[in-house]
Amino acid sequence: EEALTRIVTFSSRLDAALGGGLPVGKITEICGVPGMGKTQLCLQLAVDVQVPPCFGGLGGQVVFIDTEGSFVVQRAVDLATAAVRHCTLLAEEAEQRDAAAAFTVETILSNIFMVRCHDYVELLAEIYLLPDFLSSHPKVRLVVIDSVAFPFRQHFDELRAQRTRLLNGLAQQLISMATKHDVAVVLSNQMTTRLQGGQSQLVPALGESWGHAPTLRLLLRWAGSQRQATIFKSPDCEEATVNYQITTDGFRD
Ligand code: ATP
Ligand code: MG
Repeated sequence: EEALTRIVTFSSRLDAALGGGLPVGKITEICGVPGMGKTQLCLQLAVDVQVPPCFGGLGGQVVFIDTEGSFVVQRAVDLATAAVRHCTLLAEEAEQRDAAAAFTVETILSNIFMVRCHDYVELLAEIYLLPDFLSSHPKVRLVVIDSVAFPFRQHFDELRAQRTRLLNGLAQQLISMATKHDVAVVLSNQMTTRLQGGQSQLVPALGESWGHAPTLRLLLRWAGSQRQATIFKSPDCEEATVNYQITTDGFRD
């Protein structure tokens, strides 16, 4: 197993199942039906990547690309407040107390570079320009796209081949960006129904060829009244399943 830098989450089960946290330098896709918590997890990671190194974090910054208009500042404030409280409570040594004092809700919000993209053209333009931005902002360790599916679900009804071509190009750009700039790329994706052997199945949107873009896939779903995240290392290889909750403080065990 290669030694990867990882973004530790506030869900110890998820961290353990991921081998220590979300891998930097790789692409992770979060899939699930509406309301499962894809946006919540994206926001949580945007806070988590900023946790100071003396608390096991990366002290990083984040580019948050919002294609659905679902970024809610107050929710980011809630998650940031909980993260600050967590680090303040953990602080013992002088170095940790100083780091906790500098880790404030204001700094957390100012380290989130928000980009709103209204359609696939704006999204592709943003991704095209992002490497330059990352070169001048080396503290960015996470790029979020919430969601990648939404802008590609319109306009392409009769243009499947064009969409596949654009998505392949996007996947290549994201993979090279993740590697060259050593950032974690986290995408959220929707679910869609597909007919397979006469049965309709819920599968991640954007087609099978796109399914090879992410290194990791997290599928969020209900098991009865319990939220569960299943980790896939390839479209057919199920790795682990963990329970999670969404609390007022954020994504937790
Ligand atoms: P969509 O596909 O519509 O974008 P999503 O997977 O992004 O859905 P989220 O918006 O991340 O879903 O999750 C919404 C859910 O998160 C809510 O249904 C609620 O259960 C939970 N949630 C949101 N805010 C809070 C909060 N402050 N306290 C507790 N739970 C919350
Ligand atoms: Mg969402």
